[in-house]
Amino acid sequence: MSKLYRSLPSVDSVLAGAVQDPDLAGLPRNMLRDLVNDFLDLCREEIRSGVIARESDLEASVLQPRLLAYLRAHSRPHFRRVINATGVVIHTNLGRSILTHEAAASVSEACRHYSNLEFSLDTGQRGSRYSHVEDLLCRISGAEAGLVVNNNAAAVLLVLDTLARGREVVVSRSQLVEIGGSFRIPEVMAKSGAHLREVGATNRTHLKDYRQAIGPDTGALMKVHTSNYRIIGFYKEVPLKELVQLGREHDLPVIEDMGSGNFFDFQAHGYNFMPEPTVQQVIRDGVSVVSFSGDKLLGGPQAGIILGEKKYIDPIKKNPMNRALRIDKMTLAALESTLRMYLDPELARSKIPTLRMITAGEKDLLQKARRLKNRIRRNIKADMELAVFPAQSRVGGGAFPEQDLPTTLVGIKIAGLSCQDMRNRLLNTDPPLVGRVEEDFFCLDPRTIDDSEMGMVVSVLKDIL
Ligand SMILES: *Cc1c(COP(=O)(O)O)cnc(C)c1O
Repeated sequence: MSKLYRSLPSVDSVLAGAVQDPDLAGLPRNMLRDLVNDFLDLCREEIRSGVIARESDLEASVLQPRLLAYLRAHSRPHFRRVINATGVVIHTNLGRSILTHEAAASVSEACRHYSNLEFSLDTGQRGSRYSHVEDLLCRISGAEAGLVVNNNAAAVLLVLDTLARGREVVVSRSQLVEIGGSFRIPEVMAKSGAHLREVGATNRTHLKDYRQAIGPDTGALMKVHTSNYRIIGFYKEVPLKELVQLGREHDLPVIEDMGSGNFFDFQAHGYNFMPEPTVQQVIRDGVSVVSFSGDKLLGGPQAGIILGEKKYIDPIKKNPMNRALRIDKMTLAALESTLRMYLDPELARSKIPTLRMITAGEKDLLQKARRLKNRIRRNIKADMELAVFPAQSRVGGGAFPEQDLPTTLVGIKIAGLSCQDMRNRLLNTDPPLVGRVEEDFFCLDPRTIDDSEMGMVVSVLKDIL
């Protein structure tokens, strides 16, 4: 055994070999040295436990490939691409929306070069970072004015802080929403310094409930979109239009947290979806200020978009808190690029990945599932069962919570591997693949797998065998 220990190569000689590898050459030397040490410790452990028993196991031709695989696997960035085979389109844990090629190219341009971020090319003087998207947002939505902050949680906080700090905000008890990641209306309200004034009952709120709550301390009336749940049965909420009328009578702003704001009218374009208001509709109904996310149904980068009447938007822009919540130039670049597509709704639908995946046709998904199944069958020689069967995908991201999207899954069962084993192994492939388990199969939903990822899916499945 001690002879085996002595046959292990030295750290320096291994390191000198490793930096010849093109994949590893650019990495910090200290990082590689630590990893080489870890690898040699692993070898010592294997000698101790008898896994490495012969000197031939330590020959360069055996050890070198293992070492390189180890170094590559452990020097990968922590934040990585994954394949989303879950069929959940706006998957918050997997990064919500993915961008168009055009938006990604704008991001690259914005961060690799200097730009007119806060510089007016008309005057050569200081400009505003919001100017790049405000006109577009107004044109698409019909709003008078707008601004963009880091995310919708920030937007809600900023709107409340500006318009209702120290005053009461009237909200229906049916709309005291909690979304994932600890965003809750009552708590955000408390942080903003506005006081929550709950009205109505869990299932029913009437216009008179709002009217009776209005007094000298009232700062605003607020509507929160119940993005991730539905109340069914004996239920009533007050339509935005009526709330707007009441607000006007008392000269109070009516604000709405729309959650997953949406510029694309699915129903009007022939998609048989449950009715969800669009941003355009909310502006038409006369909302004073509305806010929503950039990376949910809109299909853009993480952002909080605030639109509404100029007299309310102006003070929001001037709030010093805005400076702490401002968006960065990469986000602005991606957002402008994404918004431009909405000038032609059909272009937006066909190009923006979030909309394209949500509106994917059943026939196309069936064909895509069959293609994927055949490709797996052709390329993987293993004792396995493959099936193609109908199921449902989800929009996700707190949008259309009850909307089923018919899809076709590719189910895989491999002899000797449980679904859970497959799941775990596929989390360690390069790239990792996240799927779902249904009907005792490990399943891939073609809705969220891009055509360009089909080969990768096959290759990671090969890897786990
Ligand atoms: C998603 C959501 C938010 C938070 O938006 P982020 O962009 O994730 O900060 C706030 N309110 C509602 C109703 C939401 O659905």
